[in-house]
Amino acid sequence: MGSLHGITSLAVFTLALVVGLMGIAHSAPTAAALYAMLLGAAALTVCGTYCAKCPCRKKACGHLLPGLIARILPARRQTPYSTFDLVLTAAALAAMVLFPQPWLTRLPVLLVLFWLLVIAAAAEILGRVCPRCRNPHCPVKTVKRRSGHGKQIGP
Ligand code: SF4
Repeated sequence: MGSLHGITSLAVFTLALVVGLMGIAHSAPTAAALYAMLLGAAALTVCGTYCAKCPCRKKACGHLLPGLIARILPARRQTPYSTFDLVLTAAALAAMVLFPQPWLTRLPVLLVLFWLLVIAAAAEILGRVCPRCRNPHCPVKTVKRRSGHGKQIGP
């Protein structure tokens, strides 16, 4: 469980969130504490909503940590994601990324660093982690299948 690209992409994304946290803490410590709590809640939401339906969580989660967390959360039936699942997951990820923006816009260096890290993590996930993932219900797989790039490379 866990792959080089899965673990490094999650580490790079986490680093982006730490940069966001630093940007908020620079001028608003209370909002930074709120953001830290939001990050914990959002991560649990993604694991409980999305990862809990992913067959990779048991032995093959490329990112390692989400799979381990999903394993201890209540099991969910392995059905396709509902609109509610997808909206909740997207909202949790959006909250993680968008919350620090008002503070980061006042700190251009941190703002640029934040987005470079987010883009690097997303590129590594889409380019290196998704092609090896075996989650048949992931929307990324559906989009790639429809565009003719859905060849699965199983370990
Ligand atoms: S591979 Fe599955 S368990 Fe791991 S992060 Fe992706 S969706 Fe979650």
